[in-house]
Amino acid sequence: MEKTLVLLKPCTLQRGLVGEVINRFEKRGLRLAGMKMMQLTDELLNEHYAHLREKPFFQILKDSMMCTPVIACCFEGIEAVRVVRAMAGSTNGRNALPGTIRGDYCMSNQQNIVHTSDSLENAEVELARFFRPEEIFDFESSNLKYLYASDEL
Ligand code: UDP
Ligand code: MG
Repeated sequence: MEKTLVLLKPCTLQRGLVGEVINRFEKRGLRLAGMKMMQLTDELLNEHYAHLREKPFFQILKDSMMCTPVIACCFEGIEAVRVVRAMAGSTNGRNALPGTIRGDYCMSNQQNIVHTSDSLENAEVELARFFRPEEIFDFESSNLKYLYASDEL
């Protein structure tokens, strides 16, 4: 099964939305395989947001990601990368559809509640960036046969 990275951004901690956002992923049927609170650093964010380093908002983005700790989560499920990304919605909260996390909880292009990995390849790189191998737990969900059909597993 796929694993993907979700970061609950500082805006989510400040606004008291941590439980609510994690609850959405749990209710969908994704298995929480790892979770920790972390203070991000400039060095880590230079790697994590390397694709945005030329953008005028790069420093503001990094500052907004370092102003409080974040919560890093690893969620697992069949096609988890695509499913989690769809649940997050468009980057700009003002464009995100109602029913998505960003579309329900934010109004900003930057303070947009969650980071989610955008491909399986990036999910693997990002999970290794935020978690040590022993911080990801491969226990079996007891309700697996009710989450998926036998021919999907
Ligand atoms: N971002 C921003 N302004 C922009 C585009 C992105 O501040 O015009 C921030 C926003 O917080 C976003 C993050 O940079 O979540 C990473 O951008 P990316 O394009 O990877 O979007 P995401 O994958 O988070 O939807
Ligand atoms: Mg991205």
